[in-house]
Amino acid sequence: MNEKLIEDYKKFLDNGKTERECVQEIIKLAQAKGYKDISEFDSLKKGDKVYITKMNKAVALFEIGSGSIENGMNILGAHIDSPRLDAKQNPLYEKDNITYLNTHYYGGIKKYQWTTLPLAIHGLVCKKDGSLVNVVIGEDEADPVFCISDILPHLAQEQVQKKASEFITGEDLDLIMGSSVPVKKDASKDEKKDAKEKSKKLVLELLKNKYGIEESDFNSAELEIVPAGKARDLGLDRSMVLGYGQDDRSCAFTSLAALLDSTAGERTNCCLCVDKEEIGSVGATGMASNLFENMVSEIVARTEKSYSELTLRRCLANSNMLSSDVNAAYDPMNAGLYDKENASVLGGGIAFQKFTGSRGKSGASDANPEFIAKIRAAMDAVNVSYQMAELGKVDQGGGGTIAYHAAKYGMNVLDAGVAVLSMHAPWEITHKEDLCQIYEGYKAFLQLR
Ligand code: MN
Ligand code: MN
Repeated sequence: MNEKLIEDYKKFLDNGKTERECVQEIIKLAQAKGYKDISEFDSLKKGDKVYITKMNKAVALFEIGSGSIENGMNILGAHIDSPRLDAKQNPLYEKDNITYLNTHYYGGIKKYQWTTLPLAIHGLVCKKDGSLVNVVIGEDEADPVFCISDILPHLAQEQVQKKASEFITGEDLDLIMGSSVPVKKDASKDEKKDAKEKSKKLVLELLKNKYGIEESDFNSAELEIVPAGKARDLGLDRSMVLGYGQDDRSCAFTSLAALLDSTAGERTNCCLCVDKEEIGSVGATGMASNLFENMVSEIVARTEKSYSELTLRRCLANSNMLSSDVNAAYDPMNAGLYDKENASVLGGGIAFQKFTGSRGKSGASDANPEFIAKIRAAMDAVNVSYQMAELGKVDQGGGGTIAYHAAKYGMNVLDAGVAVLSMHAPWEITHKEDLCQIYEGYKAFLQLR
């Protein structure tokens, strides 16, 4: 067991609970290994290590290999956004002495899982004067936390008859931010007037004092609500990790660690960490945009004497990629959802997924068997354990990754990641052995010729 890797992983989860925090953390770790911002380079040669960021929410790291860039790269591609709740743009309201923060959920969640948990707020408030205010409330022991309340069982007779998707509606997933003592019935007119929205006023006053922000500044804020607290060992034997955002930061971290601990051979190595996968890879920081192509063109422009679009196209088409994303671990408590022979199990090593998609592989890029064979040989050569997996039984559901966006360029792509139990829940479960195996497997992949 690579204990250091696991400790570093848990720290990474704690320090990166949003895509922005992940980008910061990735850059910090990369800089410590000699990576520099691409703007510092006019040209690139073998052994140079650079990173390129996009809007502080996506980042790619490259280590230049000895061969021609035209022959393609070895790419580990993960995503760093995770399911969560986002504050709306006019979020604060008071209802009967309790102040709430109105949210809209991000990604696929089971809404009822987000009630009665300690929650933290992470994000950024951008003020009109151009200044940025970073916000993290709920992670320090001394911090307050936030919570979404639920109905007591005594009064839940109607609620428990409902479908799970209706236990709590998306619109009702609002955080308790504060409260005030109700005004007495016999209070004077002035006292009643004074008590109006007293709780909300206090919340705004506290925000103003601590962060210098006004209510209207929520208009230009990006505040993400995540489970409060650190990643921890799970089980008496400490064989697993319980943590938020392991889809897909388990793969982002191991991809990063593999790159940082490798030396590029002939091919240029790349670790790509993108945003927005959980909502379809849309937007300027998502894989469906031209983000990656643009990043690679910056590399091509610096490795070649003169930039050529053809070189860029060839580089992309000749690349190998592992789409580093998590797989649904076989769940003994819900065995009927899986075809056990074709499911990933906790502790079974890297989960390779030939195809994603649903209903007849719809939406899948479906990896080529020639490429899978090459990857199998590379894994066997270093004794890394792996399993061929799918995401649940045929027609049970399904899901996608960034693989098909990369496949657009004509490169070989295979989904390869960590098996996760309770995926997309506030606290997800991974197996430490899988994290260690995948780190070794990714390192072997980066040596592919
Ligand atoms: Mn994922
Ligand atoms: Mn996901």
